[in-house]
Amino acid sequence: MANLELPDDPVAPDVAENGVWLTCVECGAEHAPFDDIIYTCPDCDGLLEARYDAYPTFDDFDGEGVWRYNAALPFEEGVSLPEGNTPLHEVPRLEEAIGVRNLRIKHEGMNPTGSFKDRGMTVGVRVAQELGVDRLACASTGNTSAALAAYGARAGLETLVLLPEGKVAAGKIAQASLHGARILEVDGNFDACLDRVQDLADRGEAYLLNSLNPFRLEGQKTIGLEILERFRDEEGRFPDRIVLPVGNAGNTAALYKCFRELVASGALAPGDVPKLTGVQAEGAAPMVEAIEEGNDEVRRWEAVETIATAIRIGNPVNAPKALPGIRETGGTAVSVSDEAITSAQRALASEGVGVEPASAASVAGLKKLVQSGEVSTGEDVVCLTTGHLLKDPDAAAAAGNDPQSVPNDTDRILKHLEGKKGHLSKMKELL
Ligand SMILES: *Cc1c(COP(=O)(O)O)cnc(C)c1O
Ligand SMILES: [Zn+2]
Repeated sequence: MANLELPDDPVAPDVAENGVWLTCVECGAEHAPFDDIIYTCPDCDGLLEARYDAYPTFDDFDGEGVWRYNAALPFEEGVSLPEGNTPLHEVPRLEEAIGVRNLRIKHEGMNPTGSFKDRGMTVGVRVAQELGVDRLACASTGNTSAALAAYGARAGLETLVLLPEGKVAAGKIAQASLHGARILEVDGNFDACLDRVQDLADRGEAYLLNSLNPFRLEGQKTIGLEILERFRDEEGRFPDRIVLPVGNAGNTAALYKCFRELVASGALAPGDVPKLTGVQAEGAAPMVEAIEEGNDEVRRWEAVETIATAIRIGNPVNAPKALPGIRETGGTAVSVSDEAITSAQRALASEGVGVEPASAASVAGLKKLVQSGEVSTGEDVVCLTTGHLLKDPDAAAAAGNDPQSVPNDTDRILKHLEGKKGHLSKMKELL
């Protein structure tokens, strides 16, 4: 994977602007970052990656949220709501039930629009301003559209979102709608929406802010930076493993890039890089298939289905960046059933952490890997929960307790409550 190694002493090529440029991960060609609008390599159509003339250490970070890490970003500041600075929860009962040394939950649902997509969008919309575009667009399983609509609105830019008809959770459409995006519901799945919006972007109709856009991933690197800094401050060491849900594999690619940059600057020893562990739903698991079969390329799944609509994706566009990330860090990928996802969602909720189904896949995957012995009980693990419970109120209500109707009468309410203990289920039974 030599093409993914970062130079120890990066020299800015002529095309660099302010020490930033884009490098193709396939052919190595270097391109100007803010001249022409490009999403993939003009020479070979490979994925692009932002590169810098210097990589920061932890001492270079100062301030709050995503822009605390501007030493690792293409700009000093951006269109901010503000984002990042999310909790790293302790979950002692869940930790015991799963059986690892230390389990923390990085709850990205606590971002301004309720998902980690805000971290990428604050940087992506800043780049859009630099490029002088006037319309932003994305295909989305929901959360990207909510973030795009909010950050676009904040920047005063027009926004266009393409969604798979009937497959987007209610909270997410409500956000895109109220923040003023023009919403197009496409008769097809997410992958079809991405094909269409890429065509529109290629025709110059809009600036594409899917995770194909390399600058989105720059913002999402800050998830890794926050995890490493806080875990080290609280535990005196870095976590052994980070487990995350995988859709387009943008986060997997972003975390890997975060680690490589810290290794390049000397801030992180190669032996301290956490093992990246991706989790997909059984009904949409092309990355897991590629890892299990040892393939360098991911086979596109045409038919995908899962309750975890945020990761209902058959053609993960960032696979060429993410597969090496999983392999080079010594991680793995695993798929989980919808039932296991719902159980993990309940288990997280019983610790007070409310997440949408896709997020719970990380915890379901960790449980499966500990049970199979692939993850050792001595590990320190951080599970990423990517989106908030309120994103998908229907899934939450279906997984939770049903309301009981009672008469408007205190005595009869007391009678109704008799014998029926409020059931705070045991964690072991939930999981
Ligand atoms: C976007 C999203 C994912 C998938 O992330 P990728 O970077 O595309 O792998 C997972 N969970 C939630 C809640 C999301 O919104
Ligand atoms: Zn190329």
